[in-house]
Amino acid sequence: MQKHDYGSFAQALVDWFLLRGRDYPWRRTTDAWAILVSEIMLQQTTIPTVLGRYEAWLQQFPTPAHLAAADEQTALRSWEGLGYYRRVRALRAAAITITEQHGGVFPTEEAAIRALPGIGDYTVAAVLSFAYNRPAALVDTNVSRVFARVFNDASPVDAPATRKRHLALAAELVHSSNPRAYNSALMELGQTICTTGTPSCMLCPVREFCRAETPAELPVKLPKKDTLSAEHHDLWCLSERGLLLEKQPGGKRHEGMYRLPQRPANEVQTLPLLGIQKYSVTRYKVTRYLHLAPANTVPQGKEEFIPTDKLPEIPMASPDRKLITKHLH
Ligand code: SF4
Repeated sequence: MQKHDYGSFAQALVDWFLLRGRDYPWRRTTDAWAILVSEIMLQQTTIPTVLGRYEAWLQQFPTPAHLAAADEQTALRSWEGLGYYRRVRALRAAAITITEQHGGVFPTEEAAIRALPGIGDYTVAAVLSFAYNRPAALVDTNVSRVFARVFNDASPVDAPATRKRHLALAAELVHSSNPRAYNSALMELGQTICTTGTPSCMLCPVREFCRAETPAELPVKLPKKDTLSAEHHDLWCLSERGLLLEKQPGGKRHEGMYRLPQRPANEVQTLPLLGIQKYSVTRYKVTRYLHLAPANTVPQGKEEFIPTDKLPEIPMASPDRKLITKHLH
């Protein structure tokens, strides 16, 4: 695509989106807090999953002040099932800053939004664009795929130099008077028409500008990192005091959440095996062996017995929740 086509490209996307854009709850609002919540949820969770949780979450925490007033355990419990719990910690930290430093009113200045804890460049741009309709450059994986194809660019999309170039391109291309619709359109084009594999070029609103010669072969990516495996040995220790669990210490990925206690393999080899759980998380293929421990097992470190009627209230990652639910019933 030539530079003189940039304006027509952006307008074609906006026109298409205004006619055919999907109706998501976060597109019906310009409330910056609601936009921030949607952006943080959508970072590592699919749209269908977020659709099932977003409105209920906003009912529980309709303003930054509501989340700031909740303790961390309540926030973690509410996030359960969405994964990547550092996101809800970041959201709560931002809510506390908005409440304490901005009187509970979401800031409108870019510098103040950027200064919120745990909010990165992409999220700042998303809030500026979707809440305040400002021409901010937004590039996610969908947008970088569209750019690679429209410009017939075979450089790896995940390489830092390509990312930088795409960000500069996004800033140049953004629609000046309707950046909100333009950015939504660009992402939606990648989600629904310019998809991975073979795109639906016949339905594409910007096909006249596209230079892709073999779109199914684009984008090119850097070689994938190897998958790693991890094995854990968990204890199942149920007594009249409750179920033995460990509260994860500070600095761990699941800080503040509970999990079944773990032991080295050589300490559990004589215990009966209750079950095996397998799942993937990031680059890891995890296998967990669940061993039946005597009811008089002595808690170590941050381990404690939690009464079984309290288990629904405490936060834990989905694999633990599933394992415990399965073996309690
Ligand atoms: S014409 Fe095809 S490859 Fe090009 S942007 Fe549209 S859907 Fe993607």
